[in-house]
Amino acid sequence: MRIGKGVRLLFRKAPAIDRPTAEWTDVAQVVLPYTYFAEADVRPAVFLYDTVRRGTPLSSSDTDSQATVLSSVTGAVSGSREVVHPLYGTLHCAVIDRLSTEAEPDVPVPVTGEIGREEVCAAAEAAHIIDELDGVPLVLKLREWYESGCDYLVADGVQIQPYESSAWAVLRDYAEQVVEGLSLAARAAGTTRYHIAVCLSGQRRRSLALRIGRRHLYQTDSYYPAEEPIRRSLRPHSRTVSPDARVCRIGVQACLALYRAIYFHQSHDRCTLTVAGNAVREPQNVTVPFGTTVQEVLARCGLTEDPSHLILGEIMTGTAAATQDIPILPGMTCLLAFTAGTIRAVQPRTCIGCGRCAEVCHAGLLPFEIARRFRNMHYERLGALEVSACDGCGACSYVCPCGIDLAATIAEARGADSAILLELEEDIDA
Ligand code: SF4
Ligand code: SF4
Repeated sequence: MRIGKGVRLLFRKAPAIDRPTAEWTDVAQVVLPYTYFAEADVRPAVFLYDTVRRGTPLSSSDTDSQATVLSSVTGAVSGSREVVHPLYGTLHCAVIDRLSTEAEPDVPVPVTGEIGREEVCAAAEAAHIIDELDGVPLVLKLREWYESGCDYLVADGVQIQPYESSAWAVLRDYAEQVVEGLSLAARAAGTTRYHIAVCLSGQRRRSLALRIGRRHLYQTDSYYPAEEPIRRSLRPHSRTVSPDARVCRIGVQACLALYRAIYFHQSHDRCTLTVAGNAVREPQNVTVPFGTTVQEVLARCGLTEDPSHLILGEIMTGTAAATQDIPILPGMTCLLAFTAGTIRAVQPRTCIGCGRCAEVCHAGLLPFEIARRFRNMHYERLGALEVSACDGCGACSYVCPCGIDLAATIAEARGADSAILLELEEDIDA
């Protein structure tokens, strides 16, 4: 794979990462879905005026225990509503008014003896841990890694530019607990090789290495695009790493949640996210219960003016949100708010063949050609164009002067029904 291409973005993490992480567990209200998964078969288990404790399941399922969602606060159900969420689609949600104004203390539970693989899986399942990297329940990932094999387990602390720093903030505040959670996840996955991958400069990296030990910290050689540097970074550290070694990724917040599930019997009900952008008066990392609304978080950070653009995630790979009236849910690690005029809205035009998308593609692809073939339904040509090598970094969309969202089209092309592709290829071969 060719490297050294891509888009150079300015470093804009400083205002948020330089402030301490704000812990806002005293939110007035949370809006939580009964399930995150559209196809899940769940029944509501709480109703209007019910009092729920933190950790209470909001729904029940006969078939899938991970489909249910646990309450992130102690409170009273004050209603229910539909939410159209940019990341999850249409969700049926319970509205819960938080009752207690006291912080709910975390009480450690005694752990004796070695914690076995099944115990780790059971804790991840009971705590309903969802990995922030991909929104998948952690217990499913642990089981799949164990069954299919995992050579290296890497906690992904690499965050692309320019704004997001929530993984750094979690490592700064809880590095030792993250490593302990990572070691437990590695045990469940059946590997003894586990590392935290970061892309930090100078002092930050050295102080982290002092805390967790150098052997658990790998510095990647770049922070963009997201996945490839992690695989690359492992190679110089071990001459025995085979090119076919399976490198599995886990989020640092999922590691921390696993630590808390084992040592505090705490459910996974809060997350840390970076709140930034030029409409935010005090950019910072904040920890909030799941279900806290974007509106409440932005109001607490302070706004310079009403934002005209909201992005969930980073500027190149994030998803636009049309309203602040949506809850913060697993997988949201960055929230950007911009004033009018900051983001140029480009009406997509026809490709002018400038070639910039191919110039920046770190995977050496021809994005304009893939998009053209896909739109013209030349599916049988996609294989030769190596569409599967695209990792969705977004660089091609970012540089296109015609405003063509190539990354989205290529993602669609990758997701095209493989049965149809196979059929077409077989017809051609015949
Ligand atoms: S084709 Fe894929 S890998 Fe290449 S720049 Fe576009 S999104 Fe990134
Ligand atoms: S950058 Fe846009 S206009 Fe230029 S070749 Fe690629 S798709 Fe066409």
